[in-house]
Amino acid sequence: MQKCVGSPYAAILQAELRARDGGLSLAGARMMWASTHLARAMAVLPYLLEHCAVYQLTDTALQPDAALPYFDGLRVALRALHDQSLTACIAYPDLASLLSGPPRSQHDLAEGVFASRLTAVREAQPDDRHRARVLSAGGQHAGAWLAVFPMTMWATARARHFQLALAMRLGCALPELLPVRGARPICGAAACGALHDEFGFHPGVCRAGNRWGLWTTRHDAFQAMLVHILRILGCTAASCSVGAGNWFGAAGVRPGSRGYRRADVVMAHYYGPGRHLFLDCAITDPCSGGALSAVPSSATSSGVAAEQRAEKKVAKYGPLAASVSSMFRPAVVERFGACCDGLVGLVSMLCGERQRDGLRDGDYAFSASSRSTYTASLLVFAAVMADAAMIERVVGVDASDAAPARYGGAPARHAWVADVPGQREIEGMGGRFWYEAQ
Ligand SMILES: [Zn+2]
Repeated sequence: MQKCVGSPYAAILQAELRARDGGLSLAGARMMWASTHLARAMAVLPYLLEHCAVYQLTDTALQPDAALPYFDGLRVALRALHDQSLTACIAYPDLASLLSGPPRSQHDLAEGVFASRLTAVREAQPDDRHRARVLSAGGQHAGAWLAVFPMTMWATARARHFQLALAMRLGCALPELLPVRGARPICGAAACGALHDEFGFHPGVCRAGNRWGLWTTRHDAFQAMLVHILRILGCTAASCSVGAGNWFGAAGVRPGSRGYRRADVVMAHYYGPGRHLFLDCAITDPCSGGALSAVPSSATSSGVAAEQRAEKKVAKYGPLAASVSSMFRPAVVERFGACCDGLVGLVSMLCGERQRDGLRDGDYAFSASSRSTYTASLLVFAAVMADAAMIERVVGVDASDAAPARYGGAPARHAWVADVPGQREIEGMGGRFWYEAQ
């Protein structure tokens, strides 16, 4: 295994994994041919045995140790499968043991190939941050966003952001952040001044990471999608973080202050009249010091960062919600896509096992036919694209000399003077995508 990360080779190794393991489900022929060859041969063998007389063959000519070239091909395929899969080495040490049992499906035989590849990808990671990234990319619902089809505004992202999201998932080095003659780009936050790494890790853990409201914008995009998807599922859902008054009554009032505590989203009267379900959103980073040094560490276990933040939220909002006879659930997702247990539970509570209706749902796609996959895919899509938009902005300003004003605030009225719209205007309505709005 080549020990270099950031190379196209390492990215391809990971891309060939299944989406649920942290890959892109783009397994190549070299990875799949042995299991496919053997599975198809096993499917055909009973037919050959039954009709061997028609083919001028005897029973013995169709035994695994027979001299037919057909079995030479199978032996070569089994040797290749042994190289790819530890499971196959143990379960099928020779051709006879494989062919004597019931026919194995290609899915069965490939299981061990994927397991060995996952181990290899994890071992190839050079440090804990990359290990945490791979684990997070393979966490709960983390790969669901790859099933999103651009059928509505909510499921559409700028091409550059989609590209960045894929690069972040696979740990590709971002060319703009590579050192130039040995010098790394410097984080542009005045209170930070640390050096960038080429993988886009720093903006997630920067101690001034919320400059220009970067983290707030990312959070708000996720919150907007949460409200949107809850409404699609037929629930009442409203943002209650700004300008919606005090939902927590006396318990919500901060002593000595005119302010009050508030959650992000409320599903009003979900449990009955006056009994609400409150949600609070966050996007966390499994590569933060707190997550890496936790026990277990985010470098050895998936979803650690999300659970850490979720526990804090439950401790903060649980009693507040209880004080108004209501419930609270955290909606935390990691920047590589892994969802906290509370959010996974919310999705299954609202969706169940049901399928979407291809004739009724205008944004139906075969890749997310179940309600829970559809819901999770859009939620994680929002988090991952908003994170990519943050990276684009940081890279643009810190490393590519883009003017900070290019991204700032809403465009002024009547300020349009260009004769020809630029790339951003063509791609995004009014130059903005829904997850970029501030
Ligand atoms: Zn910084």
